[in-house]
Amino acid sequence: MDIRVRQGNIAEAAADAVIVNLFEGVTQPGGATGAVDEKIGGLIRKIIAAGEFKGKLNETAVLHVDGAPFRKVVVVGLGKQAEFSAERVRQVSASALKAAAKGNVKTVATIVHGAGIGGMDAELAAQCVAEGSLLGAYRYDKYKSKSNDNGGDGVQELVILEWSGDKLDAVERGVARGKILADATNFARDLVNAPSNELTPSVLAQRAQAMAEEFGLECEILDRAAMEKLGMGALLGVAKGSAEEPKLVFLRYRGADGDPVALVGKGVTFDTGGISLKPAQGMGAMTSDMAGAAAVLGAMRAIAQLRPRQHVIAVAACVENMPSGTAQKPGDVVRAMTGKTIEIDNTDAEGRLILADAVAYAESQGAHTIVDVATLTGACVIALGKLYTGLVANDDALADAILAAGAKAGERYARLPADPEYKEQYKSDIADIKNTGGREAGAITGGLIISEFIENARWAHLDIAGTSTSDKDRHYLVKGATGVAVRTLAEFVAGL
Ligand code: ZN
Ligand code: ZN
Repeated sequence: MDIRVRQGNIAEAAADAVIVNLFEGVTQPGGATGAVDEKIGGLIRKIIAAGEFKGKLNETAVLHVDGAPFRKVVVVGLGKQAEFSAERVRQVSASALKAAAKGNVKTVATIVHGAGIGGMDAELAAQCVAEGSLLGAYRYDKYKSKSNDNGGDGVQELVILEWSGDKLDAVERGVARGKILADATNFARDLVNAPSNELTPSVLAQRAQAMAEEFGLECEILDRAAMEKLGMGALLGVAKGSAEEPKLVFLRYRGADGDPVALVGKGVTFDTGGISLKPAQGMGAMTSDMAGAAAVLGAMRAIAQLRPRQHVIAVAACVENMPSGTAQKPGDVVRAMTGKTIEIDNTDAEGRLILADAVAYAESQGAHTIVDVATLTGACVIALGKLYTGLVANDDALADAILAAGAKAGERYARLPADPEYKEQYKSDIADIKNTGGREAGAITGGLIISEFIENARWAHLDIAGTSTSDKDRHYLVKGATGVAVRTLAEFVAGL
């Protein structure tokens, strides 16, 4: 779906469908919605008067009309005016586009929700219209012989109409930014949705390299021999059970400003649990255990285009965790790149092992700030469900910056405590630490184990085990991969 910006009057738009909006409780529509209502003989006022449309958030009404340059009008509810926000613009843009797309609709024209009566900054509002529309229209139908027509995929062009010539530049800028962020998120979603027989560690590394070439990032792929030389025993221990070669992806965006910030992602392309084998039920979902790596790659794709001042590097640790005659076993001891030894208590707690070497590598490249992203623990899903990403950090300013970036991106983060007493839970009798801290506070100890391999950098850990996938379609979230953290990380870097 292409997005174009034009100046004009929505009531005169030549498109299959047009999208207008209404705040909850409004009975006499004004502005662009009022103009369309006039054009179609007061049909919008009629459905309001009949009690068929209340303007509740994400509520949609579809009107089929004659005598207008369009044949369909979608009215989307913005909810209560006092609760209006940028995030709501994303949501209603997706909800309205889905309603508009049903049937044989190829072109849709929309107003910029919020830029008129909503009183929102036109650039931000336009960004969120583009973002919500592109995210909501996303489909993963690569393996479907026939693409399923559940809305969105048939629309070829979305025209964003702005009446005011004064706001046109701002709308253009906002749409360009929204497109970059949404395309990067959808890039990550494609990686996460890909099955593991397609997306092996080598293929994930190749996709990263192709993306880096396309967007002008420096890229280096470390293979097993290179990792052995660096002493990455924790990462290589996880890879031992698989016939697939492990890869460490290193990307660099050269901003103007000095030492780099590092984004580090867990890229387990399939997690069987290893010798500590997972139960069969639900194991297929472990094809998305590389969502942290996907988030980091997606963020770098956006950063390469947004061009912030900050210098950024990214590390994606890509492995497959399999049980086999060569797999590592519970009770084994491995030595990480930093020299610290780890007793393997449970081979299914592999994310922290590969990240141990990945964060150490990032710090060895000069990173003063490290943010890791991982589908790390079931404990985090038990604690926060699928609404909030768990955040563990050793630095308050960094944690606050992530929370602020998340709020901008419309992604929710909950900071968990990280008191040093938790570290007692993963003491080992025979090695420096063990790779599990027991059932209690599992999301916290999982994160803290990663921090054991960072010397000086400030650190934050995002546990996206619950938020990386959605169980259902909900406004701009589409069932399957969400691409969570891509936009938060891009906003975080842009804000430094
Ligand atoms: Zn695991
Ligand atoms: Zn895992």
